[in-house]
Amino acid sequence: MAVRTRFAPSPTGYLHVGGARTALFCWLHARRHGGAFLLRIEDTDRARSTREAVDAILDGMAWLGLDWDEGPFFQSERMDRYREAAEALLEAGSAYRCYCSPERLERVRADQLARREKPRYDGRCRDREGGPGEGPHAIRFRTPRDGETAFDDLVRGRVVIRNDELDDLVIVRRDGTPTYNFSVVVDDLDMAVTHVIRGDDHVNNTPRQLHILRALGGELPVYAHVPMILGRDGQRLAKRHGAVSVTSYRDRGYLPEAVVNHLARLGWSRGDQEIFSREELVELFDLGAVNRAAASFDTEKLDWLNRHYIKASGAERLGRELGRQLAGLGLDPAGGPDPAAVAAALRERASTLREMAEASVYFYRDFDDYDAGAARKHLRPVSQPPLVRLRAALADLPAWRATEIAEAVARTAAEEGIGLGKLGQPLRVAVTGRGVSPPFDVTLALVGRDRTLARLDRALDFIRARAAA
Ligand code: GLU
Repeated sequence: MAVRTRFAPSPTGYLHVGGARTALFCWLHARRHGGAFLLRIEDTDRARSTREAVDAILDGMAWLGLDWDEGPFFQSERMDRYREAAEALLEAGSAYRCYCSPERLERVRADQLARREKPRYDGRCRDREGGPGEGPHAIRFRTPRDGETAFDDLVRGRVVIRNDELDDLVIVRRDGTPTYNFSVVVDDLDMAVTHVIRGDDHVNNTPRQLHILRALGGELPVYAHVPMILGRDGQRLAKRHGAVSVTSYRDRGYLPEAVVNHLARLGWSRGDQEIFSREELVELFDLGAVNRAAASFDTEKLDWLNRHYIKASGAERLGRELGRQLAGLGLDPAGGPDPAAVAAALRERASTLREMAEASVYFYRDFDDYDAGAARKHLRPVSQPPLVRLRAALADLPAWRATEIAEAVARTAAEEGIGLGKLGQPLRVAVTGRGVSPPFDVTLALVGRDRTLARLDRALDFIRARAAA
């Protein structure tokens, strides 16, 4: 049977790392088996679901390259279908109407808690005689009281639960809306889902869902409950660990390949291989090899992967990404060198494109202050004569290119009788404001002639003022 997986987010916020990992596993499993990947938006909770959240989820999936074959289906558009399915269960005796008031249910619950019992529905309406009663009611599923329910989870192995642990859950609330466990089952059935891959916070729902599925007469899907994701401190991944929304990684300058690669490795592995291309993941991913233990999100690992993918990316693409980051810093990428050329000069050093943008500010805007330590060390009166001579040489260069610039610097150093470093470092600080940059010939070529000469003038003023002080 053709594999069909689904990702079923509730649109109450952005696509977080855990959801993205689930989506990726669903996508990989479908792609690996030539099956279909469905997207279903679980928006029956009208109060908490928003259009912005739907858009944020679609945006996050598009960024990660998780394309779906069917959907998005919206549960809010399927209300009639859930009502119809509930009617069918009532008809068959697999469900019953429950007229218990919220006050009564609360009293039952309080009494049970007082007796230190597990709170559960006491079954009052389960065996009510007669036809439909009067007034508001919920619909409950008639859960078998004896025996047990078992399933073979692809990640957790065999899971067995006694049926008397489960009470008669509400499938349709008094206000007519279906509950999560019910709408999920109707959808998984109607959409012919073969593999339910989701977070293991849902493992306790599965026996209930299996009962309902059987009552509806459906094929049972295979389940795979993937372990949760922890921060490095061993606590469940949360906002305080830094970004948890997937698109915030884009904003912070990560490439989607790096994020996909890291997400794939959260709970899944193959030998000690760390780097997986998308094609390799599709070829090798195996739900059966997903670990049962919780996985840790490791920002250092992600940085390492990101450096790898930055180095592997073409200059054009890096230029586009860098341009976006520069704009995010309030800089105009058109107000300086082609970002692709800047990215080519900086790609070996940066862990993220944000870092790369922060290291390239001086290409696009004059800096306010020198790095104090670098200026103290390198912008000294001894450097004044060589810098004056170099300025003249640079101003006269027939072409503003790295090779000519390097020759002019070497010639000036020789004429002044000083080592190249004695000129190169002051030059670097004068033009970039800091002590670290790509090689100075490349840097100057990118900064441009006018800006370079103006910054040399400014550095010479700085040195003179310093000498006078
Ligand atoms: N809407 C549920 C969630 O976001 C989906 C659970 C499922 O995959 O069955 O947790």
